[in-house]
Amino acid sequence: MNYDLTDEQELLRQTVREFALTRVAPVAAELDREERFPYELVVELADLGLMGIPIPEEHGGAGADTVSYAIAIEELTRIDSSVAITVAAHTSLGTMPIYLFGNDAQKQEWLPRLASGQNLAAFGLTEPGAGSDAGATRTRAELSDGEWIVNGSKIFITNAGTDISACVTITALTSDSEVSNVIVPRDVCAATVIATEESIRVSSSIAIAYDTVSAPAPPYSSGIGIPIRPRSASSATSSYGKRSSRSSSAARGATRVSANSRTVCRSSSCSSVRS
Ligand SMILES: Cc1cc2nc3c(=O)[nH]c(=O)nc-3n(C[C@H](O)[C@H](O)[C@H](O)COP(=O)(O)OP(=O)(O)OC[C@H]3O[C@@H](n4cnc5c(N)ncnc54)[C@H](O)[C@@H]3O)c2cc1C
Repeated sequence: MNYDLTDEQELLRQTVREFALTRVAPVAAELDREERFPYELVVELADLGLMGIPIPEEHGGAGADTVSYAIAIEELTRIDSSVAITVAAHTSLGTMPIYLFGNDAQKQEWLPRLASGQNLAAFGLTEPGAGSDAGATRTRAELSDGEWIVNGSKIFITNAGTDISACVTITALTSDSEVSNVIVPRDVCAATVIATEESIRVSSSIAIAYDTVSAPAPPYSSGIGIPIRPRSASSATSSYGKRSSRSSSAARGATRVSANSRTVCRSSSCSSVRS
């Protein structure tokens, strides 16, 4: 097997390396010191076609392969891992699930602006009591009168709280026996976003509380995704003791979310995504 990079991949590496050295490196320390999200760099990354590298061109992406995407993240990370995780979370966590598992309507709605870098996307899995163990998810998304009603909280969600964030695809209990995904548009829920110390310096990784977010359900309202079986509260807690040893910062995040989650957000367009 030939592991050499193709000419296109080498060119991409040179392009991203030069961008990282000439555009990111000079401001990296300042951004970090000021804990400022690099909006101006995201615009430049988008102009270079780096915000949707593995997304097909028909959806607004660059249509490149996964190795190319990995090269770009590697080169950005060499200089500033916060900028790199902004691109990586947007692409792998935010955009790819919609591309891989969304229906046609969801792809048309979200992919052009995400793959082009006009907006950012996020994926909300982690909760105060659920991380690696997605089955311990406690956030609920229930269908009621043709609407999704979302209640719960998430922590450490990268790209969820920026001015250009478009949506967060969350994991949620969609019944007592199923954890699946729901796309929650950020604008309809902006009032519930709690951007506190959770923000990890230059990267925007924040806590979110959903308090009775309601929205029309998508065209299909059942059988969403490939459901996973949720854990009972007791088994989640006893899972090789990891819940009892969770970091105190996560626990504090939970308290903060609860204490601030009274703002009610009523939306018009949450939708489920196949997962
Ligand atoms: C900078 C940053 C950005 C993040 N962005 C996001 C984001 O965008 N979206 C999001 O949902 N989350 C995000 N997270 C959260 C991150 O994904 C979670 O921390 C991760 O899922 C692990 O979950 P946890 O913290 O609950 O750890 P735990 O699941 O409690 O794991 C604790 C330890 O147990 C180990 N462990 C877990 N399961 C097993 C197992 N089955 N067998 C053996 N060992 C195991 C883990 O490797 C780890 O060492 C972010 C975190 C950081 C630091």
